[in-house]
Amino acid sequence: MSGAHFAFTDRWGGVSAAPYEELNLGGAVGDDPEAVRANRDIAAKALGLDAGRVVWMNQVHGADVAVVREPWGMGVPPLQRSQERDKPVPEVDAVVTDRRGLALAVLTADCVPVLLADPVAGVAAAAHAGRPGMVKGVVPAAVRAMVELGAEPGRIVARTGPAVCGRCYEVPESMRAEVAAVEPTAHAETSWGTPAVDVSAGVHAQLDRLGVCDRAQAPVCTLESGDHFSYRRDRTTGRLASYVWLD
Ligand SMILES: [Zn+2]
Repeated sequence: MSGAHFAFTDRWGGVSAAPYEELNLGGAVGDDPEAVRANRDIAAKALGLDAGRVVWMNQVHGADVAVVREPWGMGVPPLQRSQERDKPVPEVDAVVTDRRGLALAVLTADCVPVLLADPVAGVAAAAHAGRPGMVKGVVPAAVRAMVELGAEPGRIVARTGPAVCGRCYEVPESMRAEVAAVEPTAHAETSWGTPAVDVSAGVHAQLDRLGVCDRAQAPVCTLESGDHFSYRRDRTTGRLASYVWLD
């Protein structure tokens, strides 16, 4: 049995210019594609990964899951055209693999990055869970896809990364009610007393019900942290990346 690895970036240590400074890893936010590629190389090197063996998604706030066994490209259009081996990046919000050494990456700036691994089965998954994805069940869908590849929920290690917290994620009362009807634990209130949603709490409740007990949550609120990208705070900004892999 070998280990599972989980990694979460912050915004520092890259080459992107404002407002994407410095380590923007998102290819669809308006940043210079060359800077994004350089940043992905920098991050991969720091993690001991081959940048060409990192799987990126075309995230659309859905609940679809793709099984992946080879990288399908960088998700940065100009690079996709220039690299013959690149395949189209599917529109999914979760990827699952049973290939050791293949890293799965999820891009966020307030949404919840969810990393899952069953080191015994050698199965890993990464999911992008914003409010819509959490409500649609992208995380349970990822766990089901892992089980189909031989994982057992009781062995799955789950780590969620920096995300906007329930005390900052203000929503209209009607939206909070809609979310809470599906996932009651996501019902929250801002620090200033208005309706809010706690997506991380919802994700952890979903994992708990599936029998995923080994769970941890990064103690960082992206909106409150100047070291992290936050879409709700800055609108035009970069993306953090979260990586999971098995060796
Ligand atoms: Zn917060």
